Amino acid sequence: MLNDDNGGASVESVLANLLTRITSSEDHKLGFPGWSKALESELAPFLRHELNNYGDPVVDPVFGWHTKHLERDLVDAISDLFQAPTDDRWGYVTAGGSEGILHGLWQARTLYRNATVYHSVAAHGSVAKAVQILDRRAVAIQADYRGEMDYVSLREALLSRGGDEPVVIVATIGTTMTEAVDDVPRILAIVREAGIRHAYVHADAALAGIPLAVLGRLNFGLGPEGVDSLSISGHKFFGVPWPCGILLTRGSHRDRINRIDPDPDAPRYTGSPEPTVGSSRNGHSALVMWYRWAMLGADGMQRLAQTCTEVAAYTEQRLIDTGWDAWRAHPHAFTVVIKAPPDRLLARWPLATVDGRSHLVCTPGVTPAQVDRFVADLHTVTLGGRLD
Ligand SMILES: *Cc1c(COP(=O)(O)O)cnc(C)c1O
Repeated sequence: MLNDDNGGASVESVLANLLTRITSSEDHKLGFPGWSKALESELAPFLRHELNNYGDPVVDPVFGWHTKHLERDLVDAISDLFQAPTDDRWGYVTAGGSEGILHGLWQARTLYRNATVYHSVAAHGSVAKAVQILDRRAVAIQADYRGEMDYVSLREALLSRGGDEPVVIVATIGTTMTEAVDDVPRILAIVREAGIRHAYVHADAALAGIPLAVLGRLNFGLGPEGVDSLSISGHKFFGVPWPCGILLTRGSHRDRINRIDPDPDAPRYTGSPEPTVGSSRNGHSALVMWYRWAMLGADGMQRLAQTCTEVAAYTEQRLIDTGWDAWRAHPHAFTVVIKAPPDRLLARWPLATVDGRSHLVCTPGVTPAQVDRFVADLHTVTLGGRLD
């Protein structure tokens, strides 16, 4: 029996219960960066079709069921946003932010086989996972209390490395717990001062990359004076209802990956080279992100990001007013870091909680009314009352 776990319930009731659980849990969705905007009705017909953006988005497959032309448009628009050089840019739609990180570190390994990877202790766990998959060596650099990389420690670590070893650095643009932003120009200056000739920098900008860029608050881009690659998640700011992401990098790096193809002359039965982690790739993700960018544009996205930072500021203030510790790493952060609330509250409002801290992430799905309900529940619980 497929649904044995459900005590022999009918498939219909399993689905109905699932939908009820999802919608009611979304009423209390405040503690995680993902959110989903209902899929637009114009896009619904496409869910009946396989959309397979096999391999490199630059090369159309021999078949027609793909959205690569839209993926190229999307990658181009987001590359513009991150100031990638027009003659040296490339990117693709990934299965999520972590695939983008893996891809960035894969490229770095292809360029510099013996490099050590440096990242802060506040980096996302998928960085360590990618390091392990690629069999690299990594050094975790201290972070300050807000979660930003400690540059004195980075300098020391870089200066104490062996000989003329190349380095790979992962900068986090919006750490998972506090949304702290590592300072890329400062990291690049340290690399230069340390006399390092070969360095590769990946920016993990999963949540905060697009909002900071549309708000004009990013102090670096993609290119010779900036980072080598950058990754974002599509189910965070874009609100795609399933995990996906975008990886951006330089065209010249892609060419290096293509050259390590075990057999570059082998006939490709799909007609596409494969400088991507996945071979078959989700064409619906590209379609949804393309559609949302086309409908909103940088201006619409900027208004959306502005609203999020206003809701975050409101949340921070409401919590402070009730006497609960709350702060944000910077004025444009969606994330409000708070002292971990009592377990009774966490049972109703699931929040990521680490080392006595929790956070609320004010994505576009979070409303002031929802924040008010959270604050009211927190107030009740701290006064010893019951949540009914
Ligand atoms: C969410 C997140 C990731 C992982 O991205 P996925 O899309 O979940 O794979 C990596 N880094 C940061 C900073 C994140 O917030």
